Amino acid sequence: MKRIRCILTAGICALALCGCSVKKVEIYRAADVAMGTIISQVLYAEGEDPTRQLQRLVQELETDSLSWRLEEAEVAKINATAGTAKGWLLSAQMQEYLTVILDVAEKSGGAFDPTIGQVARLWNIDTWAAGRQEEAEIPAAADIQSMLDFTGYERVLLREGSLYLEENVSLDLGAAGKGIACDRIAEWLEEQQKIQAAVISVGGSILTYGTKPDKTQWQVGIVDPADTGNYLGWLFLDGQWCVSTSGDYERYFEVDGVRYHHILDPSTGYPADSGVSSVTVLSKKGILSDALSTACFVLGEEKGIQLAESYGAEVIFVDKEGNVTMSSGMKEYFSARRF
Ligand code: AMP
Ligand code: MG
Repeated sequence: MKRIRCILTAGICALALCGCSVKKVEIYRAADVAMGTIISQVLYAEGEDPTRQLQRLVQELETDSLSWRLEEAEVAKINATAGTAKGWLLSAQMQEYLTVILDVAEKSGGAFDPTIGQVARLWNIDTWAAGRQEEAEIPAAADIQSMLDFTGYERVLLREGSLYLEENVSLDLGAAGKGIACDRIAEWLEEQQKIQAAVISVGGSILTYGTKPDKTQWQVGIVDPADTGNYLGWLFLDGQWCVSTSGDYERYFEVDGVRYHHILDPSTGYPADSGVSSVTVLSKKGILSDALSTACFVLGEEKGIQLAESYGAEVIFVDKEGNVTMSSGMKEYFSARRF
């Protein structure tokens, strides 16, 4: 009896000790619009709902840094200095982003082009995103040609912390911005003591973070481009990863059975025609997964795999016939079955 009482007492003490440290983890979910896309969050956190804070963080990234539309954003301020000898003295953060972006532009031979925005505007891509496909029309070839004179990463110079744009050239970081947002969110999550795990999607870029309370892996679906309500397979991931997809099914219109989608080949100014329907890139860095997914779409499978691997990233392609090709390292994460 005495022995049982001892064990019971020890048990209660242990429970009391645990009672101070084990907190209840809640699952918080939210879906909002920012950066012209949908931000979906699932956060595993103790205490108060942090989803609004995270939403504000993404909004600030757009209004303070990445927008070319909002005058107060750094990208808009950079664009306003195009053609001037003084250029723009970059913030440390923007210098970091542009160093990576210009590197991907150069290594992809210009397939990823942060100056392509003005051509994208000729195509009115932003209005298709808003679902107004009936307003879409093919721009005049002469207009595309003359706009191409103001594009090309070679017209952008980053020197000693300042950025110089040739006259009439402008930056649009849309093809890397969602990945940049994932990196900013990952930094913020690291600072939050009460958030244990999270999965966040910023448009076509997804961030996984931490370990879920049930310790199961994150599963990120690869959409079947031929049937976008279904998945071709899943990536099984532990901890922090960024996964970005560029697909011809995301924004497009069709004329005479031809699909005009939103990923442009900067060498022609027309939608890229590399035989690819979607590309998904896996990297520890969102800026890389996002920029590379766009670059790989333009480059096609062979060159795309080489480019992604040169950054230590993994890539999976789905071509127009539904064939799946991937970098050798991707096989470790991809499965056509769901567990
Ligand atoms: P993503 O969905 O990340 O592939 O980015 C596509 C968006 O980036 C498009 O809606 C365009 O605004 C812009 N874009 C299109 N083609 C390119 C390209 N080759 N390089 C950089 N940005 C591009
Ligand atoms: Mg991209």
